[in-house]
Amino acid sequence: MPAALITIAEARERILRVADPLGTERVAIDEAHDRVLAADLTAVGNVPPFPCSAMDGYAIVHGHAGRTLTVVGESRAGMPSATALGSGGAIRISTGGAIPAGATAVIPQENVEVRDGTIRTRVAVTAGDHLRGAGEDMRSGETILRAGMTLGAAELGAAVSAGAAELTVYRRPRVQVLCTGDELRAPGEPLGPGEIHNSNAPMLDALTAAEGAIAGAARRLPDDRAATEAGLASALDTADVVIVTGGVSVGPHDHVKPALADLGVEEVFWRVALQPGKPTWFGRRGAVLVFGLPGNPVSAVVTFSLFVRPALAKLQGQTAEHLLEPEAVLGAAVRRNPDREQAVRVRLERREGTLVAMPNGPQGSHIVTSLLGADALAFIPTGEGELEAGAAVALERLPR
Ligand code: AMP
Ligand code: MG
Repeated sequence: MPAALITIAEARERILRVADPLGTERVAIDEAHDRVLAADLTAVGNVPPFPCSAMDGYAIVHGHAGRTLTVVGESRAGMPSATALGSGGAIRISTGGAIPAGATAVIPQENVEVRDGTIRTRVAVTAGDHLRGAGEDMRSGETILRAGMTLGAAELGAAVSAGAAELTVYRRPRVQVLCTGDELRAPGEPLGPGEIHNSNAPMLDALTAAEGAIAGAARRLPDDRAATEAGLASALDTADVVIVTGGVSVGPHDHVKPALADLGVEEVFWRVALQPGKPTWFGRRGAVLVFGLPGNPVSAVVTFSLFVRPALAKLQGQTAEHLLEPEAVLGAAVRRNPDREQAVRVRLERREGTLVAMPNGPQGSHIVTSLLGADALAFIPTGEGELEAGAAVALERLPR
């Protein structure tokens, strides 16, 4: 009597319980895009580091309109003026130029008349006009970025402004995809009787890379016990995460489970109350996580999305909260499954302010085209009859 199926939520909980963040490493800023920061980052100094001009114009002492001031020097961005400023003087200044000693304001160039080395001020100027203070953006020692943030363009810019050249980030998980099946052929290879192309390999490698992990090129394993065991053994020795597709059911040619058992991989769960994706297997050997995903391509993508993706996020120090989407309204009725929650591929459309989840064509687990243009998975709870159009459904964005 096989153990009762566990829910999607239970399966995820068990995965996240054993997936611990990997170690950290220091990387140069130009290699840090999309990595997850592993330590808070503080500003090394003030930003801007010195008081500077917000405009092209003249650094002056503030005062009334109609004054004539002698231009005594220039402060360009990167080249401060050597001369200090007296009350009858002005120093030509560009945006970002350092405010010279003695100046209290900047008058924009469109507010002066220039003649024979002098300027005449057309407007009154108040102390502080068009000045940027030191530290207005960042104060020396202030925490600018927090551990756990994903480093996008803005974070990289802020890190450099804060004085960093390298960042401490979580190590990227190394992932090895293994596709089992005597019937599988490489892309473009002519097909013999009973053969199909291995569509799982490129999908899982692409999805792995999209999660920030390093995918070793997917390998194919024949449906043979010794070869399955040898392939798994070498993957277990080199990867942080092993993903094996197919061969996890109970057919006479499904060698994955016994091979994993012999290799000392401990089962955490097998089989989830999920359609598609019921025969999903998960286990571990030490810190190495092993996912046995169903062979059908749609099942493989759905279970990667639901189970492997949050694990890869956690290994990189993230929570999986960024995967959640707001609820939507189902766009067409879907027949419920009495025993398993369904993850239906949907297109998301906005109709009069409501997010509508439209089932994306036939939902068979072998229908790869149901993934084309699909934005998300909509979850249909177990039950009898149909979940009618208009019912609220939970969503999760599909990775690309
Ligand atoms: P299995 O779980 O090995 O019984 O495979 C279930 C179904 O998925 C079978 O129809 C397989 O031919 C198909 N399948 C298994 N692996 C792949 C793959 N890598 N690419 C495409 N289809 C696959
Ligand atoms: Mg198979």
